[in-house]
Order: sequence, then structure tokens, then C-alpha cells
Amino acid sequence: MTAKALPDYDADTIVVGGGIIGVAIAAVLHDRSVVVLDSGEPRFGTSMANAGHIVVSHATPFAAPGMVRMGLKSLAARDGSFALSPKLPLSGLSWLGKFMSKCNETNSAALTPGLLSLLEVSAAQVRQLGIPTTPTRLWEIFTSRHSQQDALRQVEHMQQVGLPAHLIDRSEALDSEPLLTSQVQAVVELGEDFGINPEALWKTLRDANSDATYVNNVTVDSLAAFTDRVLVGVGNTTYSARTVVIAAGAWTPTVTKLVGVNLPIIAAKGYSITIANMRANISHPMILADEKTAVDPMGSELRMSARFELTRANDRSIATKRIHQMYERARHTMRLPEFPASMESLSPWTGVRPVSADGAPFIGPLASAPNVLVASGHGMIGTSMAMGTADLIARYLRGERISEAELALTPHR
Ligand SMILES: Cc1cc2nc3c(=O)[nH]c(=O)nc-3n(C[C@H](O)[C@H](O)[C@H](O)COP(=O)(O)OP(=O)(O)OC[C@H]3O[C@@H](n4cnc5c(N)ncnc54)[C@H](O)[C@@H]3O)c2cc1C
Repeated sequence: MTAKALPDYDADTIVVGGGIIGVAIAAVLHDRSVVVLDSGEPRFGTSMANAGHIVVSHATPFAAPGMVRMGLKSLAARDGSFALSPKLPLSGLSWLGKFMSKCNETNSAALTPGLLSLLEVSAAQVRQLGIPTTPTRLWEIFTSRHSQQDALRQVEHMQQVGLPAHLIDRSEALDSEPLLTSQVQAVVELGEDFGINPEALWKTLRDANSDATYVNNVTVDSLAAFTDRVLVGVGNTTYSARTVVIAAGAWTPTVTKLVGVNLPIIAAKGYSITIANMRANISHPMILADEKTAVDPMGSELRMSARFELTRANDRSIATKRIHQMYERARHTMRLPEFPASMESLSPWTGVRPVSADGAPFIGPLASAPNVLVASGHGMIGTSMAMGTADLIARYLRGERISEAELALTPHR
């Protein structure tokens, strides 16, 4: 980029990307001028219609032992939840290679403490915001013939991580959630997990810092880092800041490339549908473990989300077949009406999760440009980690102490 003598706009910090991570960062930077640039409003709204689970229980990185086998099994199945889209760019293959090499105990041990810290900070801070949260904890529901073993294994795993989890008596579970069918074999309550409406969280965080400026419909297309300033280009306009934080979700690699850094983050498309005015609602947010589907109360609505399809970042296409599969899978476990005549009544939606190859987000300064920081790659649990991520970025910017566990999440790991 050609550095202009004078920038058009000046700020202490510029955040690239106004999804849940970007707005959470802007919300905590009360002590400086912040400008958030987003190429939409925000562009694709991955942070808006997701399942809204705040899952402290998900502290093990996504690249964990057993995930390769699970992925291959899913690829072989006709309606598996993990899939590779024909739109997957070639870079997806090198991402897959890195991911497979990281599915081991060493990776889990290195990243779990940092993830746990982000999740615990986030869950505590979300509760203080005053937005509605589910009064009941998250349930993981098992329906396969291995249900008992799988449920016990989950409880043991939680205990090893140091998190509360316990089995719920099956008949009590069926009584308290009348929508559940007799297919349900075992239920685990994940003791610290709860649900929120993700759009409500995003709006609350966006409005939390009245000094932050949001500029929508601008795509950052150049970055130049100097010792004391970073110049950020949007077409013919130049913004300047002491520090820049890249929180561009699945598009993060295209932005970090502007300063010569290649980050292994790929887009994983997921689907959700939202059923309005359910007569008999549910109270617990739920993960249907064997159906790989989340089912959640959102006020008077019921939301369902599923699928993890590696693709390119701009792919938000909606395949009717996938919506149908998700609905029918959930109907195996829950008493739901027949699939409606018009799919539109289900408000079908897709979002692209930014997934790092080792299953944990990249948070911290770039080694080659210390005044450019990254906060991205949160994968399936970005809503759950947003406030912890913002807290960590704020401590980096203030030059405060960063723990060993948090340093493990550095972008140059
Ligand atoms: C079906 C589904 C269910 C999910 N359920 C949950 C859940 O229950 N709990 C949970 O914790 N997480 C969940 N997630 C994951 C969560 O939604 C994501 O991790 C999170 O939204 C990522 O937020 P982000 O801010 O990093 O990215 P985004 O929300 O995608 O924001 C990135 C922003 O950057 C902008 N941008 C990109 N490039 C540029 C550029 N060059 N210039 C300017 N702006 C740019 C984009 O326009 C975009 O608005 C789910 C995701 C899906 C798809």
C-alpha cells in the first residue's frame, strides 16, 4: 500500500470485523478511541443465528484424539454432519493435513488450559450483562445403543477437566422435557453451560461502548504496519491507528495475508432453522450428541442447528436437503410437527465458522508486526469465547500480564 502523508481517519485501535469477537473487543476498550470496520452490517452474520450455547464444557480443542476417525465415518455416511463442499478451495487440503496432524493428546494438553480460561471468563461476564439466559443448564442427549457408556465417558471427561457434569435420571428427564421421545437413552447435564440469544448478545456488546465508532460496508483491502502506526486501507480511504486487531472470522487469512502472514483458518458452514410459536417449548438448551444437532429455546421460538461443512468463506448457499435432514434427525429425539410445506417458515440460515487447524483460536500480536493483533479462529464456540477473548486482547493492548496458558494461543504457535 502507498502510505499517504496524512490518513483520512485516526484512532487508537482499529478492529477489522464487527462479528461477535469484534464487538466484544470494542466493548471493553473504554479507555481509547476505537473504530470497528466491517464489510457488511456485519456482512454474513455468522454470529447472529447460531445455537447460542455458552459452553464452558467445550474446553478441549476441536483437534482432539478420535476426531479423524469420527470425521472419516461422517464423510462415509450419506447425511454425515461433517462434510467437504465441492466449493472447498485448494488451501482446504493443506488445512486438513495440519488438522489431522494435530488430533493428539499433546495438542489437547497444550491448548486446553487457555481455552478453559477464555470460556470461564466469558461465561462469568455474559452473566453480568443482564441479557436473558436460560434458567436451566445444557443437556447432552444420547440415543444410540452405546448411550450409557458414551454418557459416562462424557461425565468422566468433564471431571478430568475439572468441570461439573452429572447423569440425569432418564424418566425424570422425559417428565421435565415432554418434547423428548422414548428414543432418549441417557442425559448428561453440563453443569456450567447455558443458553442465550446470540443476536441479543451481539447487540448488547455493540452498544456497550458509546465511544466506539462502527463503520459498515467497508472492506479492508490493505494494511501497512510501521513502528508506531498501522495504516489500514479501504479503497481510496486510509485509516490510521496505533494498533489494529484482526477479528475477521472466516475471512481472517485474507486480511493477515495483507501483512504477509498465512494463518490456517478455514470456513465451516453450519445451518440453523428457527421454528416460531412452538406450542410446547423446551426449557433446556440441548445437544443431541448422536444426531449432531443442537436444539434450543429462544424465547417463544425453538432453534435447531447442525452441520460442519468445510467450504470457502463466501459460501452461504442453503441446500433444502440439509435442512430436511437436520429436522428429521431432531424428530427422532423430539416430538415435532411434520416438516412444513414451506421451508421459508423455518427461517433457514447458514453461517461460516472460522476454524483453526489445531482447534483453538489465534489470539495475540503477530510476531512480524507486534502492533497488529489477531483474534480469530474460534470455530464452533466463538460466541462462548467472545468476552474472554476481548479481555485477553485488552490486556495485551495495556501491556498487562499474560499467563502461560493464554500465551499458548499466540498466532505464531
Ligand atoms: C450453525 C452454527 C451454530 C453455532 N453455534 C454456536 C454456539 O452455540 N455457541 C458458540 O459459542 N458458537 C457457535 N457458533 C460459532 C460462532 O457463531 C462463531 O465462532 C462466531 O460467530 C465467529 O465470530 P467472529 O466474530 O470471529 O466472525 P464473524 O461473525 O463472521 O465476523 C467476522 C466479520 O468480519 C468481517 N470482515 C471479513 N473480512 C473483512 C474485511 N476485509 N474488512 C472488513 N470486515 C471484514 C465480516 O463481514 C464479518 O462480519 C455456531 C456457528 C454456526 C455456523
